[in-house]
Amino acid sequence: MQETDIVIIGAGLTGLSTAFNLKKAGRDVLVLEKQQRIGGQICTYIDEGFTFESGPNTGVVSFPEVTELFQALANECQMETARESSKRRLIWKGKHFHALPSGLISAVTTPLFSLKDKFRILGEPWRKQGTDPDESIGSLAQRRLGRSFFEYAVDPFISGVYAGDPMKLCTRYALPKLYNLEANYGSFVRGAMAKVKEPKTDRDRMATKKVFSAVGGLQHLVQALAKNVEIVTGAQDIRVRPDGEGMWKVSYADTVISCHHVVTTVGAYALPDLLPFIPQEQLEPITRLFYAPIIQVCVGVRDAGALRLPAFGGLVPSKEGKQVLGILFPSECFEGRAPEGGALYSYFMGGARHADYLQKSDDEIRQMVIDAFHEMLKYPSDIEPDMIRIFRHEHAIPQYYADSGERLRAVADLQQRYPGLVLAGNLRDGIGMGNRIHQAAEIAATI
Ligand SMILES: Cc1cc2nc3c(=O)[nH]c(=O)nc-3n(C[C@H](O)[C@H](O)[C@H](O)COP(=O)(O)OP(=O)(O)OC[C@H]3O[C@@H](n4cnc5c(N)ncnc54)[C@H](O)[C@@H]3O)c2cc1C
Repeated sequence: MQETDIVIIGAGLTGLSTAFNLKKAGRDVLVLEKQQRIGGQICTYIDEGFTFESGPNTGVVSFPEVTELFQALANECQMETARESSKRRLIWKGKHFHALPSGLISAVTTPLFSLKDKFRILGEPWRKQGTDPDESIGSLAQRRLGRSFFEYAVDPFISGVYAGDPMKLCTRYALPKLYNLEANYGSFVRGAMAKVKEPKTDRDRMATKKVFSAVGGLQHLVQALAKNVEIVTGAQDIRVRPDGEGMWKVSYADTVISCHHVVTTVGAYALPDLLPFIPQEQLEPITRLFYAPIIQVCVGVRDAGALRLPAFGGLVPSKEGKQVLGILFPSECFEGRAPEGGALYSYFMGGARHADYLQKSDDEIRQMVIDAFHEMLKYPSDIEPDMIRIFRHEHAIPQYYADSGERLRAVADLQQRYPGLVLAGNLRDGIGMGNRIHQAAEIAATI
């Protein structure tokens, strides 16, 4: 029987960052991954002169740990922050994309919001505080900001981040920072102003709103994290059990590993097979977590001419009834993603409100992509994309609904009942890459 200190299940960003941190602290770690490749949802492709991601394209440097991780990996991989011009965010309304206002004048002149709501928002600091701790993002946004701000700012933002339904996502769990602004300061505006004035340490200042990738694509981050970590890929049918003597037994194929700690980083739906010793009713508050499916389509154009839009991307409010949730413009954000003069786009479709899109054929998806290429990106009808790659993600983004409190309690109960077992990953602590890196650092520090 093999022995080690810590076994981590899953070689995605959470598993690899946790392993990297533990290794750095001098611990023995083994990562087990069921696929033949590492990276989980992160996967960079280089094809036909385009460098594209089938999973996440960009993260936000939302925690100091993101900066610290890249600093620790500086010899292997460099963080690339998005170009200044890509700060512009576009929202679809009517027949065009419009820039999301970034200052007072554009806020007054934008056609995205109604005149009534533009005046109404001035009263946000004095609006009554909500009383429902489980209020949805949609309800909170309409109550504080007005209907048009909800429809043309919050709804598309939620599509872009969660591929979710803002009327179902619970603010307290899905957007805790926003929830806390109202809960602690009575208003978003007053809270945001107070936050700016709060004293900050140098470490606090390492967390920013900057958008990141890695030079050459996120796969470089994965490879850098994995460099000195022992990883077994292709480990099928892993089973975890307590050995009754304070240790853990992790088995797959004809291998059994004895260890002190087990960290799972897999999706909630994968836990029952992995942890057969836990009764189903104890896992149920966790396994009922719904993951919105996403279809991501990477589209390359060799000669984009004057049709390139200097922006991060465009989001589509659900009210507009389009088939795409949004289109990112990675070649506007980062170097080398498309050949000189070309453009790379990442279309997102499906999500919580169109889970059925996952069943659409490649031909149907290709047609949806080409329709939006002409209608939304305004390419003339005689120009077709040079490259189209379709990626389907059945379990893309977990949706933090109002029952998340039960899930978090179940996780805490199980971790207490079974010392040495850690249930990590995106079933808790946020869905973005910044959240994953932050969680990994906390888990490593706790272990
Ligand atoms: C299409 C898409 C777009 C996204 N866009 C963004 C974005 O723009 N910005 C952002 O910040 N985040 C984005 N995300 C989210 C981001 O990708 C995730 O937060 C992050 O990559 C999750 O990392 P993880 O390690 O927690 O999970 P995963 O990457 O899912 O890794 C889990 C690993 O566990 C393995 N595994 C599963 N079951 C088992 C088992 N039984 N035994 C062994 N191994 C197992 C899996 O194969 C996988 O490798 C996006 C996600 C998707 C799908």
